Amino acid sequence: MDPGDLVLRGGRVFAGLGDPAARSADRATDVRIAGGRIVELGRGLAARRVVDVRDLWIAPGLIDLHVHLREPGQEYKEDIESGTRAAAAGGFTTVCCMPNTRPVNDQRTVTELIVRRSREVGTVRVRPIGAITQGLEGKLLSDIADMKEAGIVAISDDGRPVMSAGLLRRALEYARTFDLPVVQHAEDLELAEQGAMNEGAVATRIGIRGQPACAESAMVARDLEIVEWTGARYHVAHVSTARTVALVRDAKRRGLPVTCEVTPHHLALTDEACAHYDTSTKVMPPLRTAADQAALFEGLADGTIDCIDTDHAPHSPVEKDVEFECAAPGMLGLETAVPILFDLVRRGRLDEVRMLAALTSAPARAFGLGGGALAAGAVADLCVIDPERPFAIDADGLRSRSRNTPFLGRTLAGRAVLTLLEGRAVHDLDGKLGP
Ligand SMILES: [Zn+2]
Repeated sequence: MDPGDLVLRGGRVFAGLGDPAARSADRATDVRIAGGRIVELGRGLAARRVVDVRDLWIAPGLIDLHVHLREPGQEYKEDIESGTRAAAAGGFTTVCCMPNTRPVNDQRTVTELIVRRSREVGTVRVRPIGAITQGLEGKLLSDIADMKEAGIVAISDDGRPVMSAGLLRRALEYARTFDLPVVQHAEDLELAEQGAMNEGAVATRIGIRGQPACAESAMVARDLEIVEWTGARYHVAHVSTARTVALVRDAKRRGLPVTCEVTPHHLALTDEACAHYDTSTKVMPPLRTAADQAALFEGLADGTIDCIDTDHAPHSPVEKDVEFECAAPGMLGLETAVPILFDLVRRGRLDEVRMLAALTSAPARAFGLGGGALAAGAVADLCVIDPERPFAIDADGLRSRSRNTPFLGRTLAGRAVLTLLEGRAVHDLDGKLGP
């Protein structure tokens, strides 16, 4: 169906990172869309359909480099259809899905399956990430060349770290020939000792075995030495500690090809959230201390941390209605990211323009995805966010198949009200574009 031409009238346009227009966003602007593309930006534009978006943000469609869609193999938690509907509802138009499916996405046939299913039932763009090692076992490299041909945009063993330094070196060298970033879930398993939360005062008080912050930073320090040696692109997933931020800052100063991301939950919560043994607060890496959290905000502000990615990790009650130490780590992220982040903006902890860049142009650049900008001629993937819109996060309202989020029952403000994929509404909270 050709959606015809459309004008979004009078919004605050966030054009993209480094765009001088970004800072003059308070000037109300119209965006005209036709034929799946943004045709022009300006004032007083006309079209057959006009949607008033005064006081709302118009941003490029959000891009999430880190989600778990669980298909194939664990569709009782999530599948491509439910996960991409959750993405659209959260304002996302592109998601990159991690390879820890069953079977693992470590070969062309699985990559092709994900790409095909996404075209058939997906609501937004799905860009698969291939496994670094066969079966995520950390022993033999996957067939990266084959998966690249089938459409992967990065490689990662996410959920598990690459423990072998020699293997990581070979992965970086191999990935470099295909210009693919290597995404590390940094967790030295020998230091982590299967700790279920952050090692520190809270863990001691509540009697849960913790894992030290250095389990993350020690691996990042090691990896950065190998990155310098190989010159290959390296992306640190879900940075959670102050030391990791410092290491990445130093690496960037030295010009290494390093990018990294932080999750909304590591920005919003500390290990105090685990004090009531709520298994939805069990994530990996674990929620850290207030000092770590402060370093994450600093890292975002000064550009050390490039992206905000959700690590959307759906789990069923089978994995979560158990003792804290036995529970699977991870929480939902796609539908809660915008309200959580706008809450942080309102509390003065986060700059709204920096936040939007970390959800759009920065991830597009980190993985070389294209998109993430709002300009005449660009594909009309975009989202309209109402920063003041109350959002009661309740079990009935979520599109995801799972419910594992500690934000359930809370009302925050800030919500994607309209998400367009190539100019077509894939999420339209108020039915402004009609049926
Ligand atoms: Zn991970």
